[in-house]
Amino acid sequence: MPLTLHTPIHDLHGVGEKLDKRFAKLGIRTVQDLLAFYPKRYDDFRAITPINQITPDSRVHIRARVDLIENHRSPRRRMMITESLLSDETGSIKAVWFNQPFITKQLARGDTVYLAGKAELDEYGLHLSSPTYEKEKSQQTHTARIVPLYALTENLTAKQLRYAIKLVLPVAKMIPDWLPEDIRVTYKLLPLAQAVEYIHFPADGQQLLDAKQRLKFNELFLIQLRAGLTREQLSKETAPVITFNTDRTKRFVSSLTFTLTDAQKKTSWEIVQDIAKSRPMNRLLEGDVGSGKTIVAAIAMLNAADCGYQSALMSPTEILAEQHFATLTKLLRKERLSVALLTGGAARVNTSVNHTKTQVKKMIAEGKIHIVIGTHALIQETVSFHNLGLVVLDEQHRFGVEQRKKLAKKSRSQASQLFPHLLSMTATPIPRSLALTVYGDLDLSVIDQMPPGRKEIITKTIVPHKREETYQFIREEIAQGHQAFVICPLIDPSDTLGVKSVKQEAERLDTTVFPDLRIGMLHGKLGVKRKELVMRQMAEGTIDILCATAVVEVGIDVPKATVMMIEGAERFGLAQLHQFRGRVGRSERQSYCFLFTDTENAKTIERLHALVQSKNGFELAEKDLEFRGPGDMFGSRQTGLPQLKMATLSDYQIIKQTREAVKDLLHKDATLSTWPLLKKRAEQFERSLHLE
Ligand code: ADP
Ligand code: MG
Repeated sequence: MPLTLHTPIHDLHGVGEKLDKRFAKLGIRTVQDLLAFYPKRYDDFRAITPINQITPDSRVHIRARVDLIENHRSPRRRMMITESLLSDETGSIKAVWFNQPFITKQLARGDTVYLAGKAELDEYGLHLSSPTYEKEKSQQTHTARIVPLYALTENLTAKQLRYAIKLVLPVAKMIPDWLPEDIRVTYKLLPLAQAVEYIHFPADGQQLLDAKQRLKFNELFLIQLRAGLTREQLSKETAPVITFNTDRTKRFVSSLTFTLTDAQKKTSWEIVQDIAKSRPMNRLLEGDVGSGKTIVAAIAMLNAADCGYQSALMSPTEILAEQHFATLTKLLRKERLSVALLTGGAARVNTSVNHTKTQVKKMIAEGKIHIVIGTHALIQETVSFHNLGLVVLDEQHRFGVEQRKKLAKKSRSQASQLFPHLLSMTATPIPRSLALTVYGDLDLSVIDQMPPGRKEIITKTIVPHKREETYQFIREEIAQGHQAFVICPLIDPSDTLGVKSVKQEAERLDTTVFPDLRIGMLHGKLGVKRKELVMRQMAEGTIDILCATAVVEVGIDVPKATVMMIEGAERFGLAQLHQFRGRVGRSERQSYCFLFTDTENAKTIERLHALVQSKNGFELAEKDLEFRGPGDMFGSRQTGLPQLKMATLSDYQIIKQTREAVKDLLHKDATLSTWPLLKKRAEQFERSLHLE
């Protein structure tokens, strides 16, 4: 049967059950999947090294004749060794392979072969150590060309993968091109089928460049298209006009115990102007941890209430919802607004004693509540509003137009068939370039300034032999009634290079290091209830030291915590480390952040040093972008960021082109019906985002 894009991998010649399973683990089930598994890097094996020019420790690629090849058993280490003597017109060299005796069946004396690998000088003399080999034929796959290297896992070898991809490459021609022809022509892009062919086996550097260009364009185009479609959809909706009440806002602001920073004033102004329009706001409010986003949201919610509209503030966890509730009831006390809390475990209105959930929901539906605070899930699923005007999201970026529509639809009164405004808040510092690329549908407000008078968190990298000293320091802090966090990279113990796991470390701290202190443990595998309980105990101060994984990154506010200790700090990105650090220094107490590392890698040390020197999240995020690239920067959970496979954020030119192309396209036909393939691809992309 001829191969098609949908042919299952196990139907391929030479792919048995074992191999099929390994492919499946990489998510590769069909020919199409295989073709979409792009190389990570390439080896350029076009140039041939003459044998007499080979030097120790260099990577070489030779064309040679096999003069001799044989297996023998190593006397000391019961191992099969294959040795071969190879020569070209300039000289001869040995190649050595271990435990691959089958090679003598594949290569024979007199064969002409290409070999690629590293030259080493040791007890065997100067030789090639386990080089990739391939007999000369009309077309090479593994040598004598630009050779693709794939991110290999699941015990697949480079050769197996290349073999399989080479086998199905002719099928690439059948890949339909979903990008509209005129865009392809305008931006001088390869047809998709050709790009896929070239990305795997480019004949030359130009083909590789062209293929990359096209595939990067694909990625960025889909992201921009999604943003464009969202904007388009929103522009058709009508939002409540929330007019700005100058007097009331002024009165509220002057009732605060502090004055707003300029950045808070500026962002508040951007927001109140935006919600005064009848087009739904779709805005991201970015501000470092502790920069004072809550008050900015409060100003927007106050104005919504003033115009008779309800607001919903959604938090990722119950703990955070309670924190917001406590803060906002206090802030808004004089404004006579009713603020309700609704979580799995609590239902309250203002400072009253507990209501039942049913009561609170009824009050919300009747419009007796101005501001509802709860978890995302609860508000989305079980609450009906009277007339919802504004949705505020804390630390969640992805909130689709459909979700908002659904919320609005559940409203009871006519007025609320209006589409609510959206304000999404994040402490994850996202550089502007990144925001423009991936959040093209959101407008951006940035609080780039901290309230005055904050103490700088003293940050230090700690080498292994200072561990005891640091523990002593933590002990002293706790003796003063303070608390500490210890962050570990892993949940479960693993064999890899002594990286600390939460389970082991919590146990060790509890039994050996601080047997007299109260140690808590928090990680993602704990149940929701358990997590909430531990967070609550930490917040209430019944835990002295919380040993946790990256789960503490977002949100929790424990003012008495003064020490943040991070194990295996080199394993985290700067932006993430900065988030951890933001868990301390949340009061007037002097706080500390200790970065434990045993790395000697200069680049890693430089990276950690950036954190020691800079307290500015945006600056660090930019640096992270330089050091690690956007893919690694944040978990996609947090940002809703699609993982870029090919493109990077330094592809400014392509970012610009895709924005422009999408704009033109939507101008022609925003329904996409003109381009059914594109429409299908866009829907597929949307689904993939929700599955991540
Ligand atoms: P975040 O941006 O991390 O959500 P919050 O809104 O929780 O920050 O504010 C952090 C703390 O700073 C709160 O205790 C808040 O009352 C206080 N705060 C906010 N704005 C100011 C300001 N302009 N001056 C002084 N303190 C402020
Ligand atoms: Mg906050």
